[in-house]
Amino acid sequence: MTDVIRKHIRVEGIVQGVGFRPFVYRIATQWSLSGVVFNDSQGVQIEVEGPAGDVARFIGSLQGELPPLAAISRVECSDGPVTGQSGFSIIESRTASGRSAQIAPDSHVCSDCLVELFDPGNRRYHYPFINCTNCGPRYSIVADIPYDRPLTTMVDFPMCADCEIEYRDPFSRRFHAQPNACAECGPQLSLCDGQGESIRCNNPLQETVTRLKKGQIIAVKGLGGYHLAVDATNNAAVERLRQRKHRDEKPFALMAFNLEQVRTFARITTLEERMLSGIERPIVLLEKLPGSCIASLVAPGNRYYGVMLPYTPLHHLLLKQFSALVMTSGNRTDEPIAFEDGDATCRLDGIADGFLVHDRRIHVRTDDSIVRSMGGEPLLLRRSRGYVPRGVILPGTHLPVLALGAELKNVICLTRGERAYLSHHIGDMNNQDVVDSQRQAIDHLQSILEVEPQLVAHDMHPDYLSTRQAEAFAELKKVPVQHHHAHLASCMAENGVNVTVLGVIFDGTGYGSDGHIWGGEFLLGDYRNVKRVGHLDYLPMPGGDAATKEPWRMAISYLVQTFGADLPEDVLSFDVKPAELKLLKQMIARQLNSPLTSSGGRLFDAVAALVGIRDRVSYEGQAALELEMALEEDAGNCGSYPFSVRSEGEMLLIDSRPMIRQLIKDLAKRVSCSQISAQFHNGLTQAIVEVCERVRIEHGNFPVALSGGVFQNRYLTERTIEQLSEKAFEVLVHRQVPPNDGGLALGQAVIAGLQHDA
Ligand code: ZN
Ligand code: ZN
Ligand code: FE
Repeated sequence: MTDVIRKHIRVEGIVQGVGFRPFVYRIATQWSLSGVVFNDSQGVQIEVEGPAGDVARFIGSLQGELPPLAAISRVECSDGPVTGQSGFSIIESRTASGRSAQIAPDSHVCSDCLVELFDPGNRRYHYPFINCTNCGPRYSIVADIPYDRPLTTMVDFPMCADCEIEYRDPFSRRFHAQPNACAECGPQLSLCDGQGESIRCNNPLQETVTRLKKGQIIAVKGLGGYHLAVDATNNAAVERLRQRKHRDEKPFALMAFNLEQVRTFARITTLEERMLSGIERPIVLLEKLPGSCIASLVAPGNRYYGVMLPYTPLHHLLLKQFSALVMTSGNRTDEPIAFEDGDATCRLDGIADGFLVHDRRIHVRTDDSIVRSMGGEPLLLRRSRGYVPRGVILPGTHLPVLALGAELKNVICLTRGERAYLSHHIGDMNNQDVVDSQRQAIDHLQSILEVEPQLVAHDMHPDYLSTRQAEAFAELKKVPVQHHHAHLASCMAENGVNVTVLGVIFDGTGYGSDGHIWGGEFLLGDYRNVKRVGHLDYLPMPGGDAATKEPWRMAISYLVQTFGADLPEDVLSFDVKPAELKLLKQMIARQLNSPLTSSGGRLFDAVAALVGIRDRVSYEGQAALELEMALEEDAGNCGSYPFSVRSEGEMLLIDSRPMIRQLIKDLAKRVSCSQISAQFHNGLTQAIVEVCERVRIEHGNFPVALSGGVFQNRYLTERTIEQLSEKAFEVLVHRQVPPNDGGLALGQAVIAGLQHDA
């Protein structure tokens, strides 16, 4: 006889509403152990009794064979007195509140539910809202916690007897699945016209398919909002969508039925395959295959498609009948994604020919997330559906902080204990709608985390809407945080680092502590203090913000900086009137409306404009993206343009003039755009590495953190990591949050929290 023992086990993490208790019940009964399992306010508690070896195996399986949506953040075991109890049971929660437990992100429909969806013998055959404890909506339907049906938007749908039986049965996959429903009792589809009037038809889904095949634009209500769908192989339909959406060039995302379909139009590596099929189901950037059936207007001038697989049962039913659909977020450019029904019909009126809607309310809108592969691992470009509200573990516990994020790609962040929770993607803070939507996101995150922030962190920029938002929290202490310091801290925090780091922070725009516009920065420091040790040379940004929309202005600024009054105008290919050019040169000379900038993004803009890629952009980062797209496979062997690095006092400055001179010579020799792009990328990488080496000599050896939107550029980032590693630098990059401004709030929160710790 082996010794019988009793263990008390407490499990924290995403362990409620994800089938965790029945999972515990199953493995306990499998090992013939006795005891109980129940939810409490922190997570799940287990009492288990039996032979020591079996209890050990039970604990092993507990962590090794988790249900798909569960995630354990902590397990604590302690011994207890053996009671001789027999049998194992699930008992109802001892406390009403499950507030410290974590809500799971929305999940794609699981494979068991998919089998049932397409099984004519199943009672949920073709039911577009099938789900179970292992899958389905979570974050987007939760109004408050604990995560229980009455506090979700499923409160509108009382379960039928059959659903109720499943819900109560610990052996059912639907035991306590809060969104559990069937065609008898659950949400229903309907099809409406552009005015919101319902269209009479037997089968709204089939009618939608018919209309899409005819080339119509249909707004489809999904998990976190609306998509605008058109047949991706129909160029005329895609063109109409572009015209109606006033979206001239930004690529549209695609959805394809399965990996096999994706392979017909895009190249997929094993890693990308894993990213596409992961439970988060993000949009993955994939290299286009030439000559596919996809309409050319889906992603003009881009070597990549953004592709996702279906993630709701409704998507599966729709996509079964197409090679691929365009599924772009249902908003007018620059407005938040539509998610309320009335709102959607009004916002999308004049864009959509019809609306495929359902009556399950979306409580929180969540856009699709976007990832790309970088250095053999996924890199997030937009962190939203599927990832939110998963927490990021912080180096140490600190005060609860609300961080308001950046002006562009806004995401807010709340910290609680040793975790930071970032919101879904809110958007660019350029109108009242987005400001309102940010406020809703704050309220929601605050209520599901039940945390009262004690500090508000915000960007240092005096004119940002988010800075003014901070004033709304009158009773709380405000902590302004410098933009690039926040980027640095964000990268440190998600890497669990709390030492001095050299941050290489390259992005488009950020208010610097000297009042200039920063964005090509070398910052040495930690969460508390940071010192600027290097940057790209300052130069004027003629017209201020206008220069970010018209890259040719930066090109002229770089030329004036390099050549003075005697510009090599014969090699320029801009579509600009001589008078305009003259005016711009005067603005630079007289320093009129020409703030100084050290922005890396603007350097990319200038180069893109000089090589003739783009004088004007229709969305932020477009010129830089297209300059990256111009790179060919052999870019690594193309040589590099010279930048020079000089020191002024304690500051290292990267001077772009030698690079510009060489580039102009190459333009005159008609060197190809891809060759020029390669030499620019290679040269900039070398300059970054050189500055890091000189900082090391001057200040000592510190890990290098790469952050800022410029490091969404895969070639630049991979090459910089490679060369820094060759020089024996430890390199930190983003993996859990985006390097762009979408990850900024994390850094703001950590800085504010640690600076004000007792
Ligand atoms: Zn399922
Ligand atoms: Zn039912
Ligand atoms: Fe930034």
